[in-house]
Amino acid sequence: MKLAQRVGRVSPSSTLRITAEAKAMVARGVDVIDFASGEPDLDTPLPVKDAGIAAIRSGFTKYTAAGGIDELKQAVIEKLRRDQGLSYDKSQVLISCGAKHSLYNLAQAFIEAGDEVIIPAPYWVSYPDQVLLNDGTPVLVPTEEATGFQLTGALLERHVTARTKAVIVNSPGNPTGAAYDRKTLEGIAEVALRHGLLIISDEIYEKLLYDGLTHVSIASLGPEIQARTIVVNGVSKAYSMTGWRIGYAAGPKDLIAAMTTVQSQSTSNPTSISQKAAVAALNEGAIFIKEMVGEFDQRRRYMVERLNKIQGVQCAMPKGAFYAFPHIGGLIGRHTPDGPLASATALAGYLLKEARIALVPGEAFGAPEYLRFSYATGMQNIVAGLDRIDEAIRRLS
Ligand SMILES: *Cc1c(COP(=O)(O)O)cnc(C)c1O
Repeated sequence: MKLAQRVGRVSPSSTLRITAEAKAMVARGVDVIDFASGEPDLDTPLPVKDAGIAAIRSGFTKYTAAGGIDELKQAVIEKLRRDQGLSYDKSQVLISCGAKHSLYNLAQAFIEAGDEVIIPAPYWVSYPDQVLLNDGTPVLVPTEEATGFQLTGALLERHVTARTKAVIVNSPGNPTGAAYDRKTLEGIAEVALRHGLLIISDEIYEKLLYDGLTHVSIASLGPEIQARTIVVNGVSKAYSMTGWRIGYAAGPKDLIAAMTTVQSQSTSNPTSISQKAAVAALNEGAIFIKEMVGEFDQRRRYMVERLNKIQGVQCAMPKGAFYAFPHIGGLIGRHTPDGPLASATALAGYLLKEARIALVPGEAFGAPEYLRFSYATGMQNIVAGLDRIDEAIRRLS
């Protein structure tokens, strides 16, 4: 069958693919430890579930407004005011089926053939593909581990062309755990404003910061910057609600209106029940977050310490999110019984086969000498998983 050309430009999300492969192994009875999946292992908080159940019982089970219910938009507006000191009105907020969906609506509404979008690498897997699906050109800008994997104003400036329409900032970031400091964000904002770029700020890991760091939204740096920024966020990561599919975007009114139109002609509204649950999460979820971050922090320290004890592996302490992102360049070229390891993908394949550990190789994120380890899994799994990895790597020659 002759498919649309745009489909040929993209591939299925590699993180979802590896998670599916690991799940298939589990289904065959193999005891795989999953360090690949990108979601918190904790259960959705009870008050959130209760709000969902109450919505079902009260019959709140029909279409809602395509762009989401006012009650949830209001909860988002209050959240942005409370946490970032940002003010928006309802016409500047869209509720979608996940942050990924908000980003996709944005790409549909904003990107056309020839448009360039600057994406700092390592990047979240879907950014380049969403640009490609909408006929745009992703411009991948490598960032350095030594500078905390941050894009800077100077780096951005070097890659801006007459065709650049937007730049993506993801802080705290997936896969690196990078958290941008205010000064660096100011540098990016200055360049973006001067060139009239849209700043796409993916803040889905905002609540997952460690060592007393606080989140800075680039939109909060001033009214001019806010007017050129679209903030994308959601409840998936902060409230362990990945399956409920609720995300949101806040930004310029005309852009939000266009994104809402796209959504109204594609998915219609996000699930009515989930919207009610998301209201409860945003209004009552603070305690849950505190507990989750405490738990993740312990796992983070343990995992990074163990990784750094493995020869050929170097791992910086991530500042946010729930991933460790070790450099594994020292293992490339080492030998398995089947031959030398040529890449991070080959190493991930070796560890899946020999240690029954699911990991995402750095190639998926534009970082071919790294592996992504999620610590959003129980401490027992982390201890056992690192034992197995350590042992499998010792067997390399
Ligand atoms: C998980 C994730 C998202 C998408 O989350 P949704 O479940 O669609 O809300 C967006 N950006 C990054 C960087 C992520 O890791």
